[in-house]
Amino acid sequence: MSLSLYDTASRKVQIVAATNGTVTMYCCGPTVYRDAHVGNMRTFLLSDLVRRVLEMHGNKVELIQNITDVGHMSEDHDSQDKMLAQAITEKKDPFEIARKYEARFHKDLLQLNIKPAQHYPRASESIELMQAMIAQLIVLGFAYIGEDASVYFDAQSFASYGAISGNRLDALKPGHRYEYTEDGAKRFHADWALWKSSGARSEMIWDSPWGPGFPGWHIECSAMSLHYLQGHVNLHVGGIDLRFPHHENERAQSNAITGNESVDLWLHGEHLLFEGRKMSKSSGNVVLLQEVIERGFDPLAVRLCFLENRYRSQMDLTWSAIEAADATVKRWRKKIASWGIGEITEDYAFLEIVDNDLDTPRAIQYLRTIEKDETLSDRSSRFLFADQLLGLELNRLEAITPLSDEQTQLLNLRLKARNEKLWKESDELRIKLEETGLEIKDTKDGQAWNWR
Ligand code: AMP
Ligand code: ZN
Repeated sequence: MSLSLYDTASRKVQIVAATNGTVTMYCCGPTVYRDAHVGNMRTFLLSDLVRRVLEMHGNKVELIQNITDVGHMSEDHDSQDKMLAQAITEKKDPFEIARKYEARFHKDLLQLNIKPAQHYPRASESIELMQAMIAQLIVLGFAYIGEDASVYFDAQSFASYGAISGNRLDALKPGHRYEYTEDGAKRFHADWALWKSSGARSEMIWDSPWGPGFPGWHIECSAMSLHYLQGHVNLHVGGIDLRFPHHENERAQSNAITGNESVDLWLHGEHLLFEGRKMSKSSGNVVLLQEVIERGFDPLAVRLCFLENRYRSQMDLTWSAIEAADATVKRWRKKIASWGIGEITEDYAFLEIVDNDLDTPRAIQYLRTIEKDETLSDRSSRFLFADQLLGLELNRLEAITPLSDEQTQLLNLRLKARNEKLWKESDELRIKLEETGLEIKDTKDGQAWNWR
């Protein structure tokens, strides 16, 4: 048994490969100029889920996630560095901004039970790595120094450009907004900057063999992934919007350096919408994990919402879905405690479901069936085995809320009605009890209740 996932480049579901017993993973990290929203978290969770399944199979996983704190330009006409733009807005030093949002990103990961990566290299601290790679690309004939002292990747020198996204060079029109403009210094419209000359910029710049400047966004992921993962990435993760140009350009840079296919599988997570609208800072439709907590929900309810949707489908999150997931997580914790927590054994049926291109919605459905099947004696074992992937802390003891006086009274009345065979009255009382949050069952031992 092994995990298979949909590879954007080959457009096929492929088995995830390992190199010398270790799966090397790279996940494109956050640009730390603002809080990561729950949409970003959906993508980071995808990498966590994959990593957990691989570990459940006994694989060693080496995961790297970069912190973009320089070089990510906004897509608008000014094409400003997102960090510097935010530094002006908040009237703070750009590095202060970067560290503030990076710390909040780690807090969010913790609250969502996303296991930490082995390294979170920062772009601003990997300048030498990037410069070494750029110098090598120039020597190999894949990059050139433009008239503006910036260094560009020569897209036409890389024959298989477009393999991930299907965007072939001959179809990419000049002026198409897929890369920020470079004032005519590029030889070809689809070339992109590896190193940007500082020009009038005075902050976040470094010396280089080509003059002072700063790195392009795409080169950081090539430099960090190849450096930290020993020159080969088994699995590369990111949101669907990164497929082009970010990953296309990364592939060209990395393959030009290694001389072979440096990534085995390109995994892309579809986007999250909120209440029907795209979630992005630019559209103003952003929900933060902090907001979920402030509304009194367990942040892991968001994790369950994501699990209920396949990573490859766009998903619409709503407050009512979070509320329902919150109730489910709490109910499962209570039920597991009531079933008794014993030895946990492997549940191959569960693994088989998730091995199939991470079919988490089916896995959740499977657990709901287990939940209802009273003939099973190993329900808590199955749930807790699954929780190694779900990460919902299902063995956490939920505070048992005592019954209210009204509930006790209604239960007693119903017991009496049943003893007197007053079935209609008993049914009415059951409905009333259910409205108070209880679940009522009539077993051979009499009336039983549980929190829903
Ligand atoms: P950024 O912080 O902009 O560099 O984005 C971090 C990650 O979040 C990238 O992998 C993006 O593709 C991903 N992302 C951005 N918006 C969404 C969204 N609405 N839903 C899911 N992933 C997203
Ligand atoms: Zn990246």
